[in-house]
Amino acid sequence: MRVLITGGAGFLGSHLCDRFLAEGYEVVALDNLITGKVDNIAHLAGNDRFRFIKHDVSNYIFIDGPIDAVLHFASPASPIDYLKYPIQTMKVGALGSHNALGVAKAKGARFLLASTSEIYGDPLVHPQTEDYAGNVDTIGPRGVYDEAKRFAESLTMAYHREHGIDTRIVRIFNTYGPRMNLKDGRVVPNFIAQALRGEPLTVYGDGSQTRSFCFYADLIEGIYRLLNSDFTNPVNIGNPHEVTIMEFAHIVNQVTDNPAGIVVKEEARIKGDPERRQPDISRAHKVLDWEPKVELLDGLHETIKYFRTRV
Ligand code: UDP
Repeated sequence: MRVLITGGAGFLGSHLCDRFLAEGYEVVALDNLITGKVDNIAHLAGNDRFRFIKHDVSNYIFIDGPIDAVLHFASPASPIDYLKYPIQTMKVGALGSHNALGVAKAKGARFLLASTSEIYGDPLVHPQTEDYAGNVDTIGPRGVYDEAKRFAESLTMAYHREHGIDTRIVRIFNTYGPRMNLKDGRVVPNFIAQALRGEPLTVYGDGSQTRSFCFYADLIEGIYRLLNSDFTNPVNIGNPHEVTIMEFAHIVNQVTDNPAGIVVKEEARIKGDPERRQPDISRAHKVLDWEPKVELLDGLHETIKYFRTRV
């Protein structure tokens, strides 16, 4: 069995490479390295079942030999990154998804799209079920990512319906863990880096907005099960444990013994930043027999250990 992982040098893509290699697959990873890092896959150099190709999947993808599954994970994924690369973000969601689906069609491979809780926008339904159609501001700063992923979901279903491609869609909620980019601006690396430097944690807005954080290992397990299931409709994968950003800041300060406290940066919160986010995971539970296992404090300890060597 041979899988193609786009975004294979990214945070989640590289963990997927590890998982599929551990399961005995051959892995071909593509990444243009604008947000992915060679560091994330350096440990795989010399593995003869692993191949890395530096390539921007918004351009035509040519892969020699058979492919059994395509996992499409290429895209900037943190708000700072997609604000920095708005056009590349739209291109990889649109043209990149088209090319990745084209590979799946040409090879007769199964296709799995990395979608996102962002397709729900600033949600008016809480917690978010897969049936909720979302509340996205098309022209807001986050629209480039949200709409690109919404388009990618529609294109995936169109390939499924028109070409009979075997497709899967995972809607990924906030995920954290080793190999997150320390500088991607997301709340987990920002808070941990600040805490390890003994600086105050920067809470954007008033900190009453919520997120639900899933440890990467739980997410990878959910994705692996989804790929091997026969379920075509989207599935939320995330941890329903919901915290306010202010509570989260206190937790990070506590586990790192950071005495520097918190600084509230009201103005730093970008327009359209969702007020509340929590996955309803009943579907994942039912069709994949999946639920997250790693507690927030345990996941944080492992993540802090990783960041300690890099701060
Ligand atoms: N946030 C924050 N301080 C930071 C970085 C982010 O308070 O240093 C907030 C951000 O405004 C958002 C939440 O934390 O409300 C999660 O942001 P993140 O960038 O991690 O991802 P999002 O879930 O918004 O895509």
